[in-house]
Amino acid sequence: MGTVTLNNLRKEFDNGQIVAVDDVSLDVADGEFITVVGPSGCGKSTTLRMLAGLEQPTSGRITIGDEDVTNVHARKRDVAMVFQNYALYPHKTVRQNMAFGLRMSTDLSKDNRHERVRETAEMMGIEELLDDRPSELSGGQKQRVALGRAIVREPDVFLFDEPLSNLDAKLRTTMRTEIQRLQNDLGTTSIYVTHDQEEAMTMGDRIVILKDGERQQVGAPKEVYRNPINEFVGGFVGSPSMNFIEVLASISGDTIRLEDDSERLDYRLDAADYPSISEGDRLSLGIRPEDVYVVNIAEGIQTTVEVVEPIGSDNYLYMDLAPDFIARVDSDVEPEPDDTIAISFDEADVHLFDGETGESLTFEERSKTVTTPLS
Ligand code: ATP
Repeated sequence: MGTVTLNNLRKEFDNGQIVAVDDVSLDVADGEFITVVGPSGCGKSTTLRMLAGLEQPTSGRITIGDEDVTNVHARKRDVAMVFQNYALYPHKTVRQNMAFGLRMSTDLSKDNRHERVRETAEMMGIEELLDDRPSELSGGQKQRVALGRAIVREPDVFLFDEPLSNLDAKLRTTMRTEIQRLQNDLGTTSIYVTHDQEEAMTMGDRIVILKDGERQQVGAPKEVYRNPINEFVGGFVGSPSMNFIEVLASISGDTIRLEDDSERLDYRLDAADYPSISEGDRLSLGIRPEDVYVVNIAEGIQTTVEVVEPIGSDNYLYMDLAPDFIARVDSDVEPEPDDTIAISFDEADVHLFDGETGESLTFEERSKTVTTPLS
């Protein structure tokens, strides 16, 4: 069984001066594909290395299947790891590289080992490379061999540490699909670390977002995208990033008014729907670029267009309403730079975050309408 559980996992370095992973808990179901994403230094690799047994946790527990493996040696864990730099033995052929792990981890006969390597190589489309050495291979081929070497071991769990980072953009997209297809066919539990939010969003059944060693949010990609738990997650997930406007709340009667410093935004909400907002609260209003639309000049928030960036299917309009404020609009909406236009957005698409803590004020209410449970 390839279930994986992390219980309050913590890793300190330098006598506690660096907390790389801070109390991270996670339940991964058998056969699930989990992506772990976050900015550089957030503790992704350290978490994965602890799972592989390459790093000893300072505290907390790791369970794979029914076994507590926290103190089990890396070799004795039924996991196979794929690294960014491929980690192939340069003096061994592809066949020997793939067979080596099998020799270490199974008692299969030489003939059986080679048969399994041949089958896996066929599945990966690398049979013709079996007698080559790593120096004769392209980056994409090396990563295919590294994947094959992990697959041939038939482990309970695959651990991927940014395996596609060294490949060019096109190959990355191809390999992404290939890894997903293989994982789907094999049904092996997979934990995949990346700093690329798009990779995390497209590949994972669920996505884990880390920041400063702490787990921020776990959920299906769509859920996290639609309902981020805090401003950090809102800004990290999605491209172009969510727009943020600093606003001040004032309450008169049943209505909450949210106004920005430039006094161009005057957004009204029903106070009964937002009981946690008080008079004088400073908030951050988040709106995704694709949820901003251009309206009749008299009917929306007035803003000046700074740059129009055509991306083919759509246009990105950069506006002066807030720093880096972008609207993603149809390609036939083509204002000129310096034009004043009016924009609007629906309340259902507006995210509100506490101006100090960044916590979402809209998360709880929206969680009630999200189908997949958050854990
Ligand atoms: P990246 O995307 O840059 O690889 P990451 O999210 O994988 O980053 P980690 O490599 O897990 O982050 O590192 C988390 C923190 O722990 C960082 O501050 C890093 O400098 C620190 N760290 C990691 N390994 C060690 C080590 N062996 N000794 C001291 N500090 C370490």
